[in-house]
Amino acid sequence: MILDGKQIAAQIRGELREQVQALLASGQRAPKLAVVIVGHNPASETYVNNKIKACAEVGIEAEKIAYEEYITEQALLTEVRRLNSDETIDGFIVQLPLPAHISESSVLSAIDYRKDVDGLTPQSMGRVIQGLDAFISATPKGIRELLARYKIQTEGKHVVVIGRSNIVGKPMAMLLMQRPYLSLPNMSASSLGDATVTVCHSKTRDLKSICLTADILIVAAGSPKLLTADMVKEGATVIDVGINRVDDPTTPKGYRLVGDVDFEHVAPKAAYITPVPGGVGPMTIVSLLQNTLQAYNEHTR
Ligand code: NAD
Repeated sequence: MILDGKQIAAQIRGELREQVQALLASGQRAPKLAVVIVGHNPASETYVNNKIKACAEVGIEAEKIAYEEYITEQALLTEVRRLNSDETIDGFIVQLPLPAHISESSVLSAIDYRKDVDGLTPQSMGRVIQGLDAFISATPKGIRELLARYKIQTEGKHVVVIGRSNIVGKPMAMLLMQRPYLSLPNMSASSLGDATVTVCHSKTRDLKSICLTADILIVAAGSPKLLTADMVKEGATVIDVGINRVDDPTTPKGYRLVGDVDFEHVAPKAAYITPVPGGVGPMTIVSLLQNTLQAYNEHTR
């Protein structure tokens, strides 16, 4: 069965739209997100524009704050501190990557975790580990929501996560191994957890035999066709996070997007599988919207 992230994301956007409309109907202001972008990286500009468009679709106000490539780290930190104390902003993100002369970790560390709707600050990640209220980074949050909406249980299951990045692999592993008693945002999905999690990475030996023991595979490596059919147990759930460009002269752009999973051969063995595109990607954007509404609710409480 295909896990249709596009359809679930549309459903969640509908729910968010209703919640925002109810706020406006009761005389309250709309939630507001600010998005800081530095420079003109075309991929970053596309991501930022998509995020702003998605906000508009559900009635969340979004402000784009653009700086030229040559902004200093000090000036960017000053802007972050201003946003931390700007009462009209419920949450904000700083689009990564930043230019090489700016330390991403210094900038992320300066963001107030109560406004960190990307869930990338050390404080947010530490709080998630400790089971305290915090924003969860968008991709793991979206995957958890997708599993929950398809009622895929994780309790006692063996989950293999391929990839150990701060934005996907690590928080994903953390969420699924946790006891689900936590008061994390997004209650429908917070009942998931209690899994036995193995995290694999580029130095893992014999990836295949580890993957073959997985009930749920979450692949976030950025390597096309890394997961092949001979690595997947019959009836497993396969979540493909990868987004890779491969040359394809038959398409107008000359390339197409593929995941990390050999979908064609893995799909017949999998009980559930996400496609690329249309699986994890749409869930990632919708998670940012959910986090922004959550930030608003906490900020205006
Ligand atoms: P990253 O490059 O930071 O991390 C990749 C991880 O995969 C590393 O930890 C590395 O050790 C591991 N890895 C790489 N090759 C491997 C191999 N052959 N075997 C085992 N492990 C291997 O990447 P990231 O930011 O976590 O993103 C991973 C992929 O997910 C990328 O394709 C990225 O574009 C995609 N992504 C998609 C979304 C989405 O919304 N769908 C969001 C974030 C990232």
